[in-house]
Amino acid sequence: MDKAVTGASLRDFVTALGDLVLPRHCFVCGRPLTLAERHLCLSCRSDLPYTHFWERTHNPMADRYNAAIREQVPHGVEEPYGRAAALFFYNSESGYKNIPQALKYRSALSLGREFADQLGARLAASEDFADVDCVIPVPLHWRRHWGRGYNQAAVIAERVAAALGSECCRTGLRRLRYTLSQTRVGMEKKASNVSDAFRVLRRVEARHILLIDDTFTTGSTLAACHKALREVYPPSVRISVATLSYVGD
Ligand SMILES: [Zn+2]
Repeated sequence: MDKAVTGASLRDFVTALGDLVLPRHCFVCGRPLTLAERHLCLSCRSDLPYTHFWERTHNPMADRYNAAIREQVPHGVEEPYGRAAALFFYNSESGYKNIPQALKYRSALSLGREFADQLGARLAASEDFADVDCVIPVPLHWRRHWGRGYNQAAVIAERVAAALGSECCRTGLRRLRYTLSQTRVGMEKKASNVSDAFRVLRRVEARHILLIDDTFTTGSTLAACHKALREVYPPSVRISVATLSYVGD
């Protein structure tokens, strides 16, 4: 018998057995998954609301990011228009918010890696991102990292860096302050909550840095990271951002 067929059959058998003991469910709608489905049911997978921001230099996320970074650039300093892209949209009623939340709070690393691979493939094919030579995840404070056991942004950054063929610099930035969970602070307080929260820990040789986070909402966290990087890197070094999800209006 063909070895590949035997291997696939064995894998299906093990999955089917696992489904009997502990049924797998779609992360988005909660329906039980069939043997052929992984993480998402076929219906939710085909309806995934892609942003296509990687195809448009000027998009709502990039406008929001650039507005946030311009608020903190010293007067008279020329800051190039930063590129920004997310894989998919969600709003508060959307089941797709479960994808970043499961990665962040339920250790769904395999789910996160699958969508990070999708994001990486699109960025690698985009003129705006293909020349990225350094990927830096938004860091967690060591206390939160210790409590969670992993940094969800680093899980995404590693896969995106692999897709882009660039270095993943996990120690590019350090989080200085233990800030309140962003979901527990109001929007106005959010910017002041993270401003000055980051410092460059290790300077790397790079011409195009890509900052990675799980979700983009106001852009204040990524703008604070941008500010810390700009204190070390000149404007000739481009600083772009990418996330799994983008919270639409
Ligand atoms: Zn579903």
